Amino acid sequence: MTNVKADLHMHTNRSDGIFPPDELIQKAHRKGITTLSITDHDSLDAFPNAVKFGAALNVEVIPGVELSANVDAKEVHILGYFLDFTNEHLLEYLKFFREERKKRAIRIVEKLNRLQIPLTFESVLRKSGSGAIGRPHIAMALVEEGLVNDYQTVFDKYIGFGCPAYEKKFNLPPVEACALIASAGGLSFLAHPGRSMDDELLKMLIKSGLDGIEVVHPSHSENLVTHYRGIVTQYFLLESGGSDFHGGKRNDDEILGSFCVDGSCVDAMKRRLFNQHSSRSSLQ
Ligand code: AMP
Ligand code: FE
Ligand code: FE
Ligand code: ZN
Repeated sequence: MTNVKADLHMHTNRSDGIFPPDELIQKAHRKGITTLSITDHDSLDAFPNAVKFGAALNVEVIPGVELSANVDAKEVHILGYFLDFTNEHLLEYLKFFREERKKRAIRIVEKLNRLQIPLTFESVLRKSGSGAIGRPHIAMALVEEGLVNDYQTVFDKYIGFGCPAYEKKFNLPPVEACALIASAGGLSFLAHPGRSMDDELLKMLIKSGLDGIEVVHPSHSENLVTHYRGIVTQYFLLESGGSDFHGGKRNDDEILGSFCVDGSCVDAMKRRLFNQHSSRSSLQ
């Protein structure tokens, strides 16, 4: 049996990633990834085709999503795995979130225009296509139009949190985001805690209904990985991990295949789902 190498956090052009799902799966496969989750922001558009495409290459593709949630002014990201991608309730919510993203992108463009940066919303749409619009599309459009020199400067100077053209988008409270994921049969994981929070907030979020934590992530040092693994054990949580791959960066080749978890993490998730399912059936 081949060793499982699982990257459970990847984006495609259905949100702010560069590659279409099939190209991403092919690239991952070439890097020895055997299991992956496509976790686009507010979109399940990659499914079911991505699952079928993966199966043809012997790559297991787990249906996933990345939701944003708010704790006061702070935004946190929650990954949902093993979702029923036909669940109407979830699909309705995701459509609403994408509409809110579009409205927020228009507000950002208006703020940039007021700052004398003549970006058009159409140039942002050319970057996002029909997918969920994110700030990275705005950053790419600004660079491509020659209005700002580089991608990172766009965030640091204009659209990052607290900057003059920053705009919030509509987000659910974490407890509702976890409930939404659970209502579509999925498991909830707190994404990249190391990027944005202290342990006090983390412990509060654990009580919101999380099944686990993303322990492995490019933004986590070795010490942080050990730290979060300790929290996973202490609170009887599940472990996840992935590259948060978006594509289009100079270090794409180094990232792919370097931030993975092993088969025991994926098996533990499947056991959790199986046990939930059988305890529900026995109550009926
Ligand atoms: P959005 O979902 O539209 O709020 O965009 C969030 C995405 O923007 C994240 O997934 C990152 O890829 C990117 N991003 C957010 N903040 C920064 C930042 N300060 N520097 C660079 N990229 C960022
Ligand atoms: Fe993203
Ligand atoms: Fe994220
Ligand atoms: Zn992500």
